[in-house]
Amino acid sequence: MKGIRPNTWHSEELFARAQSVIPGGVNSPVRAFKAVGGTPRFIARAGGSRLWDADGNELIDYIGSWGPMILGHSHPRVQQAIRTALEEGLSYGAPTERELELAELVLKAYPACDLVRFVSSGTEATMSALRLARGYTGRDLIVKFRGNYHGHADSLLVQAGSGLLSAGGGTAKTAPSSAGVPQAFAELTLVADYNDVASLEALFSQRGPDIAAVIFEPVVGNAGVLVPTAAFLMALRDLTRQHGAVLIADEVMTGFRLAPGGGVELLGLEPDLVCWGKIIGGGLPVGAYGGKAEIMGYIAPLGPVYQAGTLSGNPIAMAAGIETLRLLAENPPYAKLEAYGKALQEGLEDILRATGIPATINRVGSMITLFFCPGPVATYAQAVEADTEAFKRFFHGLLERGVYWPPSQFEAAFFSAAHGQAELEVTLQGARAALQ
Ligand SMILES: *Cc1c(COP(=O)(O)O)cnc(C)c1O
Repeated sequence: MKGIRPNTWHSEELFARAQSVIPGGVNSPVRAFKAVGGTPRFIARAGGSRLWDADGNELIDYIGSWGPMILGHSHPRVQQAIRTALEEGLSYGAPTERELELAELVLKAYPACDLVRFVSSGTEATMSALRLARGYTGRDLIVKFRGNYHGHADSLLVQAGSGLLSAGGGTAKTAPSSAGVPQAFAELTLVADYNDVASLEALFSQRGPDIAAVIFEPVVGNAGVLVPTAAFLMALRDLTRQHGAVLIADEVMTGFRLAPGGGVELLGLEPDLVCWGKIIGGGLPVGAYGGKAEIMGYIAPLGPVYQAGTLSGNPIAMAAGIETLRLLAENPPYAKLEAYGKALQEGLEDILRATGIPATINRVGSMITLFFCPGPVATYAQAVEADTEAFKRFFHGLLERGVYWPPSQFEAAFFSAAHGQAELEVTLQGARAALQ
């Protein structure tokens, strides 16, 4: 399809139909291509590193369902595990062996956690972890970082990243990033700057005794990729410990992606609570939160903090998660992902150097962002300096050449264990043409 504009007739028709029945035609805002313009591709099927859209165009996928598909799409063993579970019924509202199997796999990878509770999304995981931290400490305030995204719970839609960055949310210090979040809720969320130790120290020195928790992305994906400094990570741990606040690592994106034990293992961190999502469901709706028994003991039915879910621990979703984590443990893809990421980054850097376009690539393992600004990009303030018009050209240039990059400057691109030399070549060829 080189040089030929791909056909998008079916996607255009479906998008028009979708907009008459679904707000904006999508069930999650970033899918609507608002930040880059154009018509979102409707996807018909997926396998390995590839997606096929409704018009039959083959795309190399750098979204991976926004994180879960680390093994590539439609892995035969995951599909088979789902088929097996399917035959046994869909949902019982009673405990099953699969839940404890997945719990054991998660806890084995995170030895600092004793107990884990399953929910159905990353949003539910962070929301529940915050309630737990508040119940455990008896305090109301939480601290988050500008441009970090933790799902769409009210208290967390304050200076949030991901789709909210491209949509242009509120900017005042504790202004909600979304309409419908009461100012009174937003006032319980304090916002500090990622990689800025002084901003965190200032909050603790003013409000320390009232802070229940600090929640953070171990490596940020939702402002584009931002890499934490060692000093920042140390300050997070020291300040929370000193002031009796719960440190919550939001590993919904990074868990099982950056290492078997996620960002926490990679960075040598010791959080009090961890949130998971995405990969632990293998592409089905699963989230989880866990930590030391002392804190997790506050969750009902053990303790006074209520949290429940009709479909929590759903057997089909558990089956997908179990098989995914088993495959990751049997044949860890992390060295391969790192090699692919390194080659992709170096290839892109060569192209950028030749074109003279000011850009910075941030990458940790299989999470990568090409920021269209000179860099370095270590903070949210630096990330939002990026040239979003240049990004749009890059995005559409790639898409026309069969490479599906995330449709926003402020998102991480992901690749999978199914990405190899062929994908690398098409991607770099596409990037070379897109950046000309
Ligand atoms: C995706 C994500 C969430 C939200 O998960 P959902 O399943 O979309 O609700 C929370 N935190 C982080 C870091 C994420 O990347």
